[in-house]
Parts: sequence; structure tokens; C-alpha cells
Amino acid sequence: MAEKSGILIDYDWCTGCHSCEMACQMEFGFPVGQSGVKVFQVGPWQIDERKWQYSFMPVFTDMCTLCAERAAKGKLPSCVQHCQADCMKYGSLEDLVKEVSSHNKQVLYAI
Ligand code: SF4
Ligand code: SF4
Repeated sequence: MAEKSGILIDYDWCTGCHSCEMACQMEFGFPVGQSGVKVFQVGPWQIDERKWQYSFMPVFTDMCTLCAERAAKGKLPSCVQHCQADCMKYGSLEDLVKEVSSHNKQVLYAI
């Protein structure tokens, strides 16, 4: 059976720049507002005197193919390559799972 791939996002470092959305739209020519990944904002709201909730969370949509054609040529997915904060990592699920435990705010997408 073929090895499954995925994308690991360390969203503690996501700045909400939306470059991943744009990269996907440009790669596939999707219409404005549609993409294989959408970035959602949580907050800002104040938790206590010193702490705020303010996070950005990229979520993959059903339009995402995990850039299968690029991967077949040995290229990174377009969104991963253009992430301004370098907080997205592409690889085999087996390898990515090993990295999850060492960080706090991470999401692993298996698409
Ligand atoms: S992996 Fe490829 S298809 Fe999926 S969101 Fe990223 S750029 Fe779009
Ligand atoms: S390109 Fe990277 S930093 Fe920018 S919104 Fe997407 S995941 Fe976050």
C-alpha cells in the first residue's frame, strides 16, 4: 500500500498572512474566495491581564489534492513552499507523527 502523506502545521507561528491560500489559488486557478486551504481567525479576546487569545488556523478544504502532481515531480505543495512563516511541513504521515509530540499547538492533516 502507498505511504500516506500529510501536512503538519505549527499554528503557534501562523501569522494569518493568507499566502498559503493565494499560492493554492494561483497554482490551480481557483476562483476568488475558493482554495484548497482557508485561514480562520480565533480572537482576539482577553483571557486575563497578561494573556490574549489570538490565533490563526489554516484548514484544508475538499478542493485540496495535496498537490499530487507537484509531489510526483519531487516538489513541495504550493502552500507549503510559500508559507511566509515556514510553519507548514509536508511529508509522510509516519515522519510527521514523530514531530507532533515535541510541540504545543500543532495540527496534522492527513488528506
Ligand atoms: S496542498 Fe496543494 S492543493 Fe492542498 S491546499 Fe496546499 S496548495 Fe492547495
Ligand atoms: S502562509 Fe503560513 S503563516 Fe501565512 S496564513 Fe498560511 S500557514 Fe499561516
